Amino acid sequence: MSRPDAIVIGGGLHGCSTALHLARRGVRALVLEKDHVGRHASGVNAGGVRQLGRHVAEIPLSVAAMVLWHRIAELVGDDCGFESHGQIKVAENEAELAAGRDRVAQLNALGFTHEEVVDEAELRRLVPAIADHCVGAVVSRGDGAALPYRTTLAFKRRAESLGARFVEGAAVSRVARAGGGWRVETAAGEAHEAPVLVNCAGAWADRVAAQLGEPAPLEPMALMLMITARMPPFVKPVVGATGRTLSFKQFANGTVLIGGGMRGRAWRDENRTELDFASLSINARTVWDLFPIMRGATIVRAWAGIEGRMPDDIPVIGPSATELGAFHAFGFSAHGFQLGPIVGRILADLIIDGRTDLPIEPFRIQRFRQMAEA
Ligand SMILES: Cc1cc2nc3c(=O)[nH]c(=O)nc-3n(C[C@H](O)[C@H](O)[C@H](O)COP(=O)(O)OP(=O)(O)OC[C@H]3O[C@@H](n4cnc5c(N)ncnc54)[C@H](O)[C@@H]3O)c2cc1C
Repeated sequence: MSRPDAIVIGGGLHGCSTALHLARRGVRALVLEKDHVGRHASGVNAGGVRQLGRHVAEIPLSVAAMVLWHRIAELVGDDCGFESHGQIKVAENEAELAAGRDRVAQLNALGFTHEEVVDEAELRRLVPAIADHCVGAVVSRGDGAALPYRTTLAFKRRAESLGARFVEGAAVSRVARAGGGWRVETAAGEAHEAPVLVNCAGAWADRVAAQLGEPAPLEPMALMLMITARMPPFVKPVVGATGRTLSFKQFANGTVLIGGGMRGRAWRDENRTELDFASLSINARTVWDLFPIMRGATIVRAWAGIEGRMPDDIPVIGPSATELGAFHAFGFSAHGFQLGPIVGRILADLIIDGRTDLPIEPFRIQRFRQMAEA
């Protein structure tokens, strides 16, 4: 590739999606990835494609992303293993169900109708294996799950086929102004230049933002998952809980994935995580309580992925507040996989048109400057 139109730092789903949406509009991106594409959160997450339970600020983006998920093969030429059997947040008592009703009423008042409260009978119809004490649930029927590594690679492949270029093993060490654009240097001593810079560096993105003079109080965290040996098929939707940390789903091959936000320890400079078995046992206990069939399950593996969390648990998406021609999308705080298809489109719109039709004001990076000054 001759000089690219944009340099994207980070080959996770958001970097790949940005490169793809730019390429669809004839803008050639060079994606620099310090490890390999999909190595971090985007390739090792739970694959939850969820509108359910989102922060209100994220809902318009999440709803728009869901439209793309339901036609994902048209976008990337691969179905990404996406299946839509709904997502369910189980209430274990009447107080939790009442909180669910309040939440759904709040969303309805804002014009969002994707979440609905279901009674005990409908919960049992949707999840026959659920424990007897559960009294109902909040459901988002259009939600589902996909295969994260396959998804990220599908975005990369489609972007490449449309003219984007990816360099793996290219750790960006310095970004600086060069003329009206950007000069990006890698640890291997290579340099690239482009008019536009996009920071999709995941749990390392605060370091890129710092080079632009922008404070971004990102906390790297290690989110953990466990998987079981194969079990007979017993659940189709993805199941969470209202009062406890849980994300639970069974794959077509029978294995069951258990997660939902339990944290280990992250050393981002070493690409290393350490599991916290005490927290994993809390997760296992939840599953024991909610699914009696799981009392006979064998957990065969556990792992953690490094994710960037912002103090308000919503991401940074939008232009740099300090530098023209620089853009951010990071800090997805444990729920960025579902947003991947739309965030790339938003960035492409911002870069090419200078505007987007989705409400991204809550995600501006300046909010942290305001927090620091408060
Ligand atoms: C265990 C786990 C479960 C999760 N479950 C879900 C879920 O069910 N649903 C959901 O919606 N979300 C989920 N998430 C969150 C989701 O995975 C992330 O929000 C999303 O993948 C973030 O994508 P990204 O592209 O921003 O970051 P990443 O995938 O981390 O990609 C960033 C990339 O930037 C690269 N990079 C960083 N610095 C540099 C540099 N200086 N030079 C070059 N490259 C650099 C990194 O190597 C990395 O590959 C989960 C996350 C984890 C860890």
